[in-house]
Amino acid sequence: MTAPFKISRKEDTLLKYRDEFVIPTFRQMSATAVPAEIADQPVTYLCGNSLGLLAKRSKKLVEEELEVWATKAVEGHFGHPYGRGWMWIADTVHPYLAKLVGASESEVACMGTLTANLHLMLNVFYKPTAGRYKILCEARAFPSDQYAMATQVAARGMNPDEAIIQLKPRPGEHTLRTEDIIDTIKREGSSIALVLFAGLQFYTGQLFAIPEITAAAKAEGCVCGWDLAHAVGNVPLSLHDWDVDFAVWCSYKYLNSGPGGIAGLYVHDRHADLPVREAGWWGHDPATRFDMPPTFKAIRGAQGFQQSNPSVLSIVALLGSLQVFDAAGGMQAIRARSLRLTGYLETLLKQSKYYAPPEAFFGDSEELKFTIITPANPAERGAQLSLAFLPLGRGVMPKVLEQLEVRGVVGDSRKPDVIRIAPVALYNTFEDVERAAKVLDEAMEAVAKEGVSHA
Ligand SMILES: *Cc1c(COP(=O)(O)O)cnc(C)c1O
Repeated sequence: MTAPFKISRKEDTLLKYRDEFVIPTFRQMSATAVPAEIADQPVTYLCGNSLGLLAKRSKKLVEEELEVWATKAVEGHFGHPYGRGWMWIADTVHPYLAKLVGASESEVACMGTLTANLHLMLNVFYKPTAGRYKILCEARAFPSDQYAMATQVAARGMNPDEAIIQLKPRPGEHTLRTEDIIDTIKREGSSIALVLFAGLQFYTGQLFAIPEITAAAKAEGCVCGWDLAHAVGNVPLSLHDWDVDFAVWCSYKYLNSGPGGIAGLYVHDRHADLPVREAGWWGHDPATRFDMPPTFKAIRGAQGFQQSNPSVLSIVALLGSLQVFDAAGGMQAIRARSLRLTGYLETLLKQSKYYAPPEAFFGDSEELKFTIITPANPAERGAQLSLAFLPLGRGVMPKVLEQLEVRGVVGDSRKPDVIRIAPVALYNTFEDVERAAKVLDEAMEAVAKEGVSHA
């Protein structure tokens, strides 16, 4: 039954890229004393959806930049001993980012942070009129995105409760159906200014049908933007060909740029001449930037939106990881391995005596169980599976998480009932997946012994 997913180490051609990453040990990650036999073993890290691991190349590149700073100081902007003049440092990552999101280099910019970039894009692309002013999004969007949309609507003198349409899954379902999203766009399209979804839902792990939803939005004359925080580096993207208007992402999740790493944005070439609203000197034509002219002349395309000179340490931390993506053959190859890892994880989890089918979530059984709320169709998900722990609202999830942690399986929680685990194709293994499934059973066993509190 598991044969279609797991492949031998010999067939597993991307396995070697695990060595490109630093995997923490039990001793390093544990807050308490760890038994000596396992102390120096690597943990089973399934949390790359939240914070990707450090690539060894990133560490080396950051150390080099610190050395250049120490020895060349301001000269590092132009005369750089490693050929990465800080003046042009973002250009070292633009080609890689363009490939990852399916765009040309002039359609992407490495800059800022996700939420700030989202505001920039909303300022450019959210242009409500009396008849067409609504934003269509999902009810459980990431809070930062919800805050951004609500404040942008309010800043234009409208009521977010009225102007933002929030789509909810059908009763008894965890995820939105593509047909329901598209029906809403068709029905209400003439009043919708902007369709804005996350490419991959952070809580459920649902991968939205980006090309179909984008096409439906465009057909109704809406602008269509995507937040790719959980999608970039996780699934293949073809933003230009899909005719996506704009997109934003952070890079510390699947792109492994490190905590608070530098973010990115994409603007379709069709909009390359849209006026920049919040200009800064780094978006100015580099040919004359240092002449310090008084009038702003934007770089054509996405890079015209750059405002400040970017964090060099952040960019090279990202660069090291992007080089590994490239060496591994890009997103198609990585996605193929990812489908195997996550399919294998799902298969093993479903064999657990604690597994309950997704309907159990909506029942009222008192049994200690877990279910998977991520879509079962691999085309509708990325690396992540979201597990919900039953009975709901009884504090099962935090207890399980703790039991996982003491056994060196690292996932993360989303309140109230969900643990997210994501085998990452660049550094996790089929053995990690086996261990995670086994340890989850042990964790459930331990929680069962302890007992679950009453409602
Ligand atoms: C991770 C994530 C964020 C985080 O935003 P920052 O500005 O990087 O802090 C925002 N939105 C979504 C959908 C995310 O997944």
